[in-house]
Parts: sequence; structure tokens; C-alpha cells
Amino acid sequence: MKKKIVVVGGGFAGLQLIHNLKNDVFDILLIDQLNHHQFQPLFYQVATSQIEPSSISFPFRKIFQKRKDVRIRLAEVISVDPLSKSLHTSIGDFVFDYLVIATGCKTNFYDNEELRKNAYSLKTTHQAIQIRNAIIETFEKILYVEEQEKESLFNIVIVGGGPTGVELSGAFAEIKRDVLPKDYPRIDFSRLQIILLEGSSHTLNSMSAMAQQASMRYLEGLGVILKTGVIVQSYDGKVVKLNSGEVIKSKNVIWAAGVTGNVLTGISEDLITCSNRYKVDRINRLKGHESIFAIGDIAYMETPDYPSGHPQVANVAIHQGKNLAKNIMALQFNKKLTDYEYRDLGSMATVGTNKAIVDLPFMKFKGYFAWYIWMFLHLMLILSVRNKLIIFINWAVNYFTKNSSLRLILKEEGK
Ligand SMILES: Cc1cc2nc3c(=O)[nH]c(=O)nc-3n(C[C@H](O)[C@H](O)[C@H](O)COP(=O)(O)OP(=O)(O)OC[C@H]3O[C@@H](n4cnc5c(N)ncnc54)[C@H](O)[C@@H]3O)c2cc1C
Repeated sequence: MKKKIVVVGGGFAGLQLIHNLKNDVFDILLIDQLNHHQFQPLFYQVATSQIEPSSISFPFRKIFQKRKDVRIRLAEVISVDPLSKSLHTSIGDFVFDYLVIATGCKTNFYDNEELRKNAYSLKTTHQAIQIRNAIIETFEKILYVEEQEKESLFNIVIVGGGPTGVELSGAFAEIKRDVLPKDYPRIDFSRLQIILLEGSSHTLNSMSAMAQQASMRYLEGLGVILKTGVIVQSYDGKVVKLNSGEVIKSKNVIWAAGVTGNVLTGISEDLITCSNRYKVDRINRLKGHESIFAIGDIAYMETPDYPSGHPQVANVAIHQGKNLAKNIMALQFNKKLTDYEYRDLGSMATVGTNKAIVDLPFMKFKGYFAWYIWMFLHLMLILSVRNKLIIFINWAVNYFTKNSSLRLILKEEGK
């Protein structure tokens, strides 16, 4: 009988694992709480009405239509029982021979319940649509509310100066300049403030000094109000309080200041790090568990080159998925196992049109050329030719007309 592999999570890591497991060797079950894969790097473009959510979302059933050895279940995995090798989910229990946890991360509000309730986050396509709805509704409201209510609507606050915060702030600044005044000619957009708050002294902390300086200059050039060295202490849905004593009135606060792993209960706390990642060995196996693996953002692997774990980025997730597939095949056929080794291909971020930064291990550059590279590589990573084309057409329309037609409020009636 074929061995049962259960994969929890169809993100970058889970998908690559399944794609790289040879057809018809195992009985594979993919369980995800969503029915589709999400391309997270472009969430910010959905939130700012530049592309459609469907072009960065890919149904699992379509992806695996030709794989008869892959079954799919739409369910939330709640807990694991390593002894009986079973999983408890929202639709019932499943047994496994091998379990691969690829559940990624969620937004970290650092136990601040008030923040979690009142701020927006950007970890799912649904949340990107929520931000898009809220921002467009804000301008509809500005047209009719009393003057004293307007200040909090005119301030859009983004917390966290990593790639997500920088990309969002730049995109908001561009639609403020190029797009929104066409839709709302009666609104004075000089009053609209895009405020980016960052705790350290720089944006893009994980990138080079050149990238940090360039991103700050680009943001300032676009009119983003950048406040570094500030920590948000509270946000009650109306006012952001900073550690400096400053308060900012805002109805729209987007929290992009950290992530924490989606851990499953049932696995010993000793195997979970402080950032909620599973400690794994060099083949992504949970320490002390022969048949349980973790890959991608949820995995924490120490290596001589990365003594504090790998960065939580798509490249690591993709290659850990591929490497584990190779190792599971090797286990099956009694072959030699291969340790995972991260090849840092560099990183990049974009702040706006013609404004991107590329950090390669051997060179660093910014501007037009970096922006073209950024677009090209993101298009290459998008699944399906149709989606690549749709995104490319949307980008071209935005570039030449600065007037896309995607500014839709789509939500449940009455909400
Ligand atoms: C806004 C944003 C922008 C980013 N930009 C970049 C970028 O430009 N470049 C880059 O390299 N990286 C970027 N990243 C990081 C990158 O997206 C992640 O590193 C990558 O998605 C990790 O892949 P993964 O497979 O580990 O997890 P994910 O892609 O997060 O997938 C996890 C899957 O598990 C499912 N899941 C979770 N819990 C459960 C459960 N209990 N039961 C069932 N299913 C579950 C989820 O629904 C999801 O489908 C960005 C992330 C975000 C949020």
C-alpha cells in the first residue's frame, strides 16, 4: 500500500513539495483552510486597487487537476496527535505516515487585543480586499462627514517599515497623486497623509544600507510622512498613541509590523521557538519525530551560515519544499538524504513606479532597471499564463493611463 503523506498548507512550500513528489508514488492529501494558493508578495497591489484578487489566487483543484495521487480537503487543521499519527481538523480526523506542516505565518499583534480588533492586516487576499474596501469607503465618507471627523479619515497609518509597509505606503502615495483626484475632484488631497511608522532607525532593515537609504528617499519624494524610532503603544480604532507621546487620529491603521507562526496544538512546546516556528533539523524534520516535517515560514532551522534561522521569504519556502520532496523520495527508496542549504539569491523591494531596489549578493542597484527586474521576477513567479497576462495588462494600463478601473467596494450587504 502507498504511504500516506498529509501536507497542511498549500502556500509556496506546500505546493513545491507536492509538485516535486513523483506522480503516483504516494497517496497525498493536501489540507488547507482556503481553496486556493495566494501570491502574498502582491497583496499590497490588491489593497491599493492596482490588480484583481483573482489574478493572485489559484484554486488548488485546478493546480492539481492532472495529479490523481493528490486529494484536497478544505479544512482547518486544529491539532496533531504524533502517537497515533493522526490530525484533528474542522471536518474530521485523518491519519498519516508522513506529516508535512507548511502552515506559514499570521500577523503578530504581540498579544495586543485592542490592536488586533481595530487595525487592518495584510496576510490573506481577503484582508487585502478589506483594506481596499476601507480605503475607498474613506473617500466616500470624506464627501459628507462633518469637518471635525475628517482629520482621522485623512490620515492613513501604516505600521512597520519592512517590505510590506514600504510597498503599501509607496502605492498609497502614488494613487493619492495620480488616481484618486480624478475620482474625487471635490476632495482636497493635499490633506491626505500617508504616515509610515517604523520602530528602528531605517526602513527595509533586512536589506543593505543602500536599500535602506534609497527606500527612505523614495518614500519622502512621494510625500510619505516617515517616522522612524517610534513604537505604537495603542490604537483604539480612533487614535494611535506612540511611545514618543505623539498621538495621530486615524480611522485606517494597517499593521505590518511582524508575523508569528501558525502552530498546531499537540506538538511539544519544546519544539516551538519564541516566534512560533517549529525547530527542525537539516532535512526539515521535527526534532524527535521521525515522520513529522515542517517547511517554509513555520520552520526554524539553524545552520552554520544561518545560526538564527532563515529569513521568512518565498525563496526559502520554495526550496525547502523541493528539498523535502527529494528527501521523502530518498526515504522511500533508501537513498542518501540531502541537507537543506539556503542559496541567498538576493532580495528586492519596490516603492513605486520606476522606484525599486535590488540587493544581489554580488551587486546592488536601484531605479528604473531594478523596477523592471522586480516586475519581471514577480511575473515569472505567478502561477498560470493567464494570470501573468492579466497582471501584465493591469500594470501596463496603470503605467500608461494611471487610471485603472479596479476601485470596487465588494463586501457583504449591510456590513
Ligand atoms: C504582504 C506580504 C508580502 C510579501 N512579500 C514577499 C516578497 O516580496 N518576497 C518574498 O520572498 N516573500 C514575501 N513575503 C513572504 C512570503 O509570502 C512567505 O515567506 C511565503 O508565503 C511562505 O510560504 P509558506 O508556504 O511557508 O506559507 P504560506 O504561503 O503563508 O502558506 C501557508 C498556507 O497554510 C494554510 N494554513 C495555515 N494554517 C492552517 C491550518 N491550521 N489549517 C489548514 N491550513 C492552514 C494557509 O491557508 C496557507 O495557504 C510576503 C509576505 C506577505 C504577507
